[in-house]
Amino acid sequence: MQRFQQTLAAPVELEEVGIFSGQKVRIVLEPAEAGEGVTFVLEGVSGAPRIPLRPEHVLGTEGATVLSDGYHSVYMVEHLLSALHGLGIDNVVVRVFGPEIPLFDGSAEVFVREILRQGLRLQPALKRYLEVLRPFEVRNGVGCLRFRPAPEFRLRVRIAFDHPLIGEQILQLTLNPLNYQKELAFARTFGFKEDLLRRKEKGLLRGGDLSNALVLDESRVLNGPLHRPDEFVRHKALDLVGDLFAAGIPFRGEVEAELSGHRLHIEALKNLLSAPGVARLSDGLAPVAFFFLAPKKRSFRAHY
Ligand SMILES: [Zn+2]
Repeated sequence: MQRFQQTLAAPVELEEVGIFSGQKVRIVLEPAEAGEGVTFVLEGVSGAPRIPLRPEHVLGTEGATVLSDGYHSVYMVEHLLSALHGLGIDNVVVRVFGPEIPLFDGSAEVFVREILRQGLRLQPALKRYLEVLRPFEVRNGVGCLRFRPAPEFRLRVRIAFDHPLIGEQILQLTLNPLNYQKELAFARTFGFKEDLLRRKEKGLLRGGDLSNALVLDESRVLNGPLHRPDEFVRHKALDLVGDLFAAGIPFRGEVEAELSGHRLHIEALKNLLSAPGVARLSDGLAPVAFFFLAPKKRSFRAHY
């Protein structure tokens, strides 16, 4: 369990065509002060509005997670948020020069690789967590999310698709930065050919092609091979890790997700936070204790 907050050791710059807009989108991740959390700055909009990552600024839709202050939005934030949450990064400024976060290969691998290439920096402040205090369940049609108290971030994800390559898949994992890199970061999003063609015809996926997602027809992956046979459920877990970071601080507890998606993840998180006595934001120690416990400012490169 990490004790101290972390930020980036140096800025990280990424650029790619966005799948919704078809435009080239650049994002720059910059270090931020301890306690600042995650802030998005919309550089493509006049006045460059700042949107702090907080539950009230996040919407879950069927296909993506959206950050919005009610006036301006950034689409597809989930895989970037997943990489930040998975690597244990607390404080960062995300400058976005466009309407969405690029999808790259549909996984979190590019974010993880480029962030770790620059390295992380520990900060002299104890980490805060969103802690689950009591069991809590949220249902939405067939989908369900169950939360339970746990001393670490544990997840269990189950998906079921009527497709010969997917079927029922279950993944159980204790999440820490190493497990995240090894077990989840590489897992690509997936879609069905018919669905993608329909959406492309409607002009909804201007930049989407076979490099942004695993695409399936009735029996096989058109752009395989799979990294693992259960890459599909691993991607769902990657999405869940990203969506739970909509709280703005890391999650601590057990979460079980059945047949869920972004909409349910975000709705469940908001319900968890607003239900009395079910979750709390843990406090750090008193400032005097920081003085003795905090490490000297140092940078390190994590292994990838
Ligand atoms: Zn996803």
